[in-house]
Amino acid sequence: MIPGGGRRALVALLAVAAVAVSGCNDKGGANGDPAKDTGAGSVSGLPVTHFESGLKPGAPSPDLNVRNADGGEDDKLATAAIADVQAYWAEMLPANFGQQFEPVKSLLSYDAQTDTEETGCGSVKKLVNAFYCPVDDSVAWDRGVLLPMLRQRFGPMSVVVVLAHEFGHAVQYRLGDKAGVSKSTPTVVKEQQADCFAGGYFRWVAEDKSKFYRVSTSEGLNQVMASMFLIRDQAGTSAADKGAHGTAFDRTYAFQAGFEKGPKECAGMTAENVKARLTERPFDKGDKGKGDAKFTAQAVELLKKSLDEAFQRAGATAPEITDGGSCQTTPPASYCPGDNTVSIDMAKLAQLAQPIDREAEMKGQDPGGMGDFAAFSEVASRYALGIQKGVGASIDNANAGLRTACLVGAWAAFTNRPGDLRLSAGDLDEAIADLLQPESLVSADVNGKRPDSGFDRVEALRRGYLEGSSVCSKAYA
Ligand SMILES: [Zn+2]
Repeated sequence: MIPGGGRRALVALLAVAAVAVSGCNDKGGANGDPAKDTGAGSVSGLPVTHFESGLKPGAPSPDLNVRNADGGEDDKLATAAIADVQAYWAEMLPANFGQQFEPVKSLLSYDAQTDTEETGCGSVKKLVNAFYCPVDDSVAWDRGVLLPMLRQRFGPMSVVVVLAHEFGHAVQYRLGDKAGVSKSTPTVVKEQQADCFAGGYFRWVAEDKSKFYRVSTSEGLNQVMASMFLIRDQAGTSAADKGAHGTAFDRTYAFQAGFEKGPKECAGMTAENVKARLTERPFDKGDKGKGDAKFTAQAVELLKKSLDEAFQRAGATAPEITDGGSCQTTPPASYCPGDNTVSIDMAKLAQLAQPIDREAEMKGQDPGGMGDFAAFSEVASRYALGIQKGVGASIDNANAGLRTACLVGAWAAFTNRPGDLRLSAGDLDEAIADLLQPESLVSADVNGKRPDSGFDRVEALRRGYLEGSSVCSKAYA
């Protein structure tokens, strides 16, 4: 976030008042439209499950030839992922596009530290990556650095999502016109489609249709989405950049769209229809390198002012924010219903607000903090609970948590304009990263309890951001 940016145009937001009306709670997706199912008891129409995600016990050994493989853990995971994704597309291509599926022509495993193998796209020397090469219709992965780093940090399914994404490019290549892809298609559209295809595949796995893998809809999918955050673009990249892959916010959107609606939806993503919702943007003039504000008393004052303005029409008394404060139920930020205050721990939040050290992060080391917006969102979430209580809404259940995340999203959109505190490049990604942490407050109720599904949490924040606050009371009544 950027503190101090000129005068805010006062645009009143918020229809939180509607939260007070207790509506019916559509939990089971009974209307048959998984996209509309936002109940806390399911993930896009599937039950919330808890088990260890990864290769199924007794999974078959894939019948695939992988050049230069060493047969280690990461090759095992990657090869099974390709076999599995191919099985998925062998079903989906005929069913959705009336087209027979052709497996890719070759697979390559390499170690980016030492190997110099070639694909049709050149040497893999020092290439910490996984990729699809259309020239020789091959998929290659770095088993030396990239895959072990992902696996150790996010578990085995992070390897699978990388390969599912790369295979999505192979599918794109096969679909051609049917996916609207040509030489002039911007990279970010191809990336959105590939993330979306990966989401479609993961639904199939979550529905237990895979012979190789299983994924729980709580911790399993949370880790898959968190690993997409790691391979996001640097803050400040423009969505129009040739190599732009999209922010974590945009990428999780595409993944979830595929999960909810399937591969036809993905193939329908075009430059025109993704443009409106893409959040990726360059730093504003003069902001470069300044995206992170320090978490100081002055910053908290600006935050309070921003929240007061955003929620002024809600019809609730604005909570005060105090260091220390009257309750410490959910440190480092707590909402105290007794005296309508948000109690914060300045030191802890200042630590959380430290910028993410990308280099350390890529090496699998402690990235320091999670960025200023992560800290601001945690405080904003506790403030939003005060507003909800003020209008008579519940604050101690799963829907209250999702409503809170949604309101934080709506507030983030409110700050996305010149004002005392405004959203800067990378901020939304910090909120997403925070949301996917097991102990994040952004989607927690007053007691610190949050829905198990990060899928739901991310969706709630995004809906508030894209659709505004009125959707929060309706969707999470
Ligand atoms: Zn890609």
